[in-house]
Parts: sequence; structure tokens; C-alpha cells
Amino acid sequence: MMIPRIRIANLPTPVEMLPNLSARLGGPRIMIKRDDLTGLALGGNKIRKLEYLLAEAQANNAKTLITTGAMQSNHCRQTAAVAAKFHLACILVLVGEEPPAASGNYLLDRLLGAEIVWCKREERDACLKATFDSAWAAGRRPYLIPYGGSSPVGAVAYSQAMQELAGQNVKPDWIVFPTSSGGTQAGMVLGARKTSFAGRILGISVDEPAAVFGPRVADLAGEAADRLGEKETFNPADVLVNDDYIGGGYGVFSSLEREAIQLFAATEGVLLDPVYTGRAAGGMIDLIRNGFFAPTDTVLFWHTGGTPAIFAEQYEKELWG
Ligand SMILES: *Cc1c(COP(=O)(O)O)cnc(C)c1O
Repeated sequence: MMIPRIRIANLPTPVEMLPNLSARLGGPRIMIKRDDLTGLALGGNKIRKLEYLLAEAQANNAKTLITTGAMQSNHCRQTAAVAAKFHLACILVLVGEEPPAASGNYLLDRLLGAEIVWCKREERDACLKATFDSAWAAGRRPYLIPYGGSSPVGAVAYSQAMQELAGQNVKPDWIVFPTSSGGTQAGMVLGARKTSFAGRILGISVDEPAAVFGPRVADLAGEAADRLGEKETFNPADVLVNDDYIGGGYGVFSSLEREAIQLFAATEGVLLDPVYTGRAAGGMIDLIRNGFFAPTDTVLFWHTGGTPAIFAEQYEKELWG
């Protein structure tokens, strides 16, 4: 079954070798899939999901996209960019308090013309519902995009991305990437089955315990298959997640991310973000140092984006050296 899709992303995203990083780590062959280069407003993995989510919103005659996330949410910024380009209004329900100055993703949310509603963490769901209801009552025809864009339809995008990878004739032993709301991983797991991918898909959790991901990702992958008119069932055992690198929790920046960001930048000129790809790359580097991968393995680091969040950081010599 074909699921409606609006083309937005620059695809296929490049696959590149990272020979300097491999040499520096004395480790396996490392490759990178550049989903930080999906294009619109500095790109990232949510652009792929939004191709399907926008099509669903348009099919519902939506006039306003509503979604939610942290102040430095990449998902919110990419949703705001898609809304701007496709003549829709955008309301972002951001968790926290309005900062005195805007930077990083939040600066871009403003430039992209999104309306912002601030709410407390524990009131987020109620706040989102109230925002939706009042937009509906005002005749703004809102369409709600779930946290991280991780609806079954959103997950279909990463099943498609696995087909794209197969088409690039890239057959890594491992795919390593940051996992959070689980839509990216669910799509990959489904796509792996559809393409008979022989490698393993390892999500590095950025915030939650690994046990949360098994059922979440397996269910989402099954629902995504269902949307495609296919009957596939998945078990929590099909979902591989490492939660050793959560550290202080979501977005708490530490030496793990800092070292990974510096290493990728200084050896390959590739920029990682402090919340997602910095953490996942930090985990991958630690796994390499601990001999987790075989020396003959090819490890593909799937760069999911997040670039603008770098600019919410400050360079401080004591921290960065
Ligand atoms: C949202 C996001 C992720 C996590 O993707 P999920 O589908 O929510 O698991 C990873 N990396 C970046 C840069 C993101 O913005």
C-alpha cells in the first residue's frame, strides 16, 4: 500500500567513510549516513517523518501544525520549517520558561514564524490538549503531530530510509544512532526486515531505560507495517538498545558528548549535536574502546541531525580544553 508522502528532504542522504576517526580509535571501519543533510532549515531525521506527517495533515485539510518538545527540540524546529514552507501555521508547545534570549533551535523557531506556548513539564499533555482545543474552536483546523513525530506513519519514513540505504549498496554490520521517542528505530527495524538487512541496529538511548524501548519500538514497528498493509509482528527482543550513556538525563551535557563532538569535528570536520548525536557517538566511541565491535566490522553511524543545538552552547576553556 502506498502511503501519501510530500517530498521535502534531499534524498538519498550521502553515505561517507570516516577513515580518520577509524584510525584515531584504532577501531572498526566507520561510515556515516548524513541525515543531518536532509535539507530544510538545517535538516535532521524529523524531515523524513514530516514528509508523511504533512501528507496526512493535508489529507485532513489542516491549517495549523501543533507539536511539542523541549526548548532546543530539533523536531519542533523542523515542524516549524515545514509549516512555513507549506503555508500552514505552527504552534509549538515548549516545556520550560521563556528564556531572556533565543538561541539554537529556539532562535530558529522564532525566525520560522512559529507561535510558542510555554508550559511546565508535568502539565505538558494538558497544555497540548488545551492548545489544540482552542485552535480547533478558533477554526484553525489544527493537526497534532505527536512527540518526536513518532506516529506509525512517521515511523514508515525510516523503513523507507532503510530501503534507501540498501539502494546505496551499503551493508554495515552495525547501525548505531541516538534513540528517544523510538520512531526512527521502529522504522529501521521494519525496514531491516523488509530489506533482509543482515546487520544489527543498535539504538543508544538518550534518556530512557532500555526496557522501555522494547515494547514501544516493537509495537510502533508493527503498526507502521500495518499502515503499509503488511502483516509483520515484532518482539521486544528484536529491539536492541544500550542505555549505558544516559548520564545525568536528557540534554545534560557532559564530557562524553564533549569528547565525541571534538573528535568528530577535529578528525573529520563532521559536526554533532550536544543532546542526541553527541551522546550516541560518545557511546559508540566507548564501545569501540571496549572492544564491543570486531576489528573487521563495519559500523555505520546514522547522523540524525541536531546541528542548531550546538549554537545554544558556549565555548568555555575549562570545559572544552
Ligand atoms: C528526535 C531526534 C532523535 C531521536 O529520534 P526518535 O525517532 O525520536 O527516537 C535523534 N537525533 C536527533 C538529532 C533528533 O532530533
